[in-house]
Amino acid sequence: MQQIVQPKLIIHGGAGSCLKGKGGADAVRQSLHRVVQEIYALLLAGENASSAVVKGCQLLEDDPRFNAGTGSVLQSDGHIRMSAALMDGTRQRFSGIINVSRVKNPILLAQTLQEGDDRVLSDYGAAELLRELQLPPYDPTTELRLQEWMLERKGDFNRAMAGVVAERELVTESNAGRGTVGVVALDSQGQLAAATSTGGKGFERIGRVSDSAMPAGNYASSDAAISCTGIGEDIIDECLAARIVVRVTDGLPLGQAFERSFLEAHRNQRDFGAIGIDAHGTIAWGKTSEVLLAAYHNGQTIADTLNADLGMQTAVG
Ligand code: ASP
Repeated sequence: MQQIVQPKLIIHGGAGSCLKGKGGADAVRQSLHRVVQEIYALLLAGENASSAVVKGCQLLEDDPRFNAGTGSVLQSDGHIRMSAALMDGTRQRFSGIINVSRVKNPILLAQTLQEGDDRVLSDYGAAELLRELQLPPYDPTTELRLQEWMLERKGDFNRAMAGVVAERELVTESNAGRGTVGVVALDSQGQLAAATSTGGKGFERIGRVSDSAMPAGNYASSDAAISCTGIGEDIIDECLAARIVVRVTDGLPLGQAFERSFLEAHRNQRDFGAIGIDAHGTIAWGKTSEVLLAAYHNGQTIADTLNADLGMQTAVG
């Protein structure tokens, strides 16, 4: 296969408030860089954007540090319900799974649904799909997430969301945040894709639907691809991923599309972050939350956003 375009890759492991200690940040950085390295190598070897973002999501889902797949947060009733979406930019085709339980990699279900007529399934339909695919039942609960839930139950679930990443010690109010994962890639054929996977906010009411399996939280066209993380309701209210993509389609450079969208979000006191790539290979990220846990490969080096200033910021990588 002829390499026409230099591949680009950006991934995130959530957005939220400050990481508790340097130890936490270093471990997250290592996890993110490892995934970037692995997936970028696949892109260089000719993997297409859609399967690369799925593989990246799968690696992040398997890392208990992040709130997706293994290590997902528990909802108010103590159950884990996960959501994931894949959007193929070339086909401009979205597929997603909402509130699925007892599966190792929700993103693989979203990938399976890309080819179907019914491309977004929730609860009962998701369980039926698991049965049809004969996937073995899997319990993604980790001891740490269980302890976190029990602690919250004592406090009557007063916190808005669970911890940004699972740290060795229990997460506390000071580092409350999230840890959803997302991957955006441009492959060597110039194709874009975005994938996002989450355990939700944590402690939410039964049936609450995350933005991660909506075009508000995960969207791509042949012009740009975006994955979001943060308070899902804020992301939905801004329709963030689709908003940024449409701005690029209408002619705004990706960096400016991020800048404008995050200025509006800041004005509206939203709490979230987003990552993206456009068809020219520009990488961008933005946040209104204190931190965004993102890392990227720009063709030359791997870099990350972990030391970015607190608060609202957008940048081109
Ligand atoms: N956006 C996710 C949700 O609201 C949470 C996150 O990004 O951490 O379900």
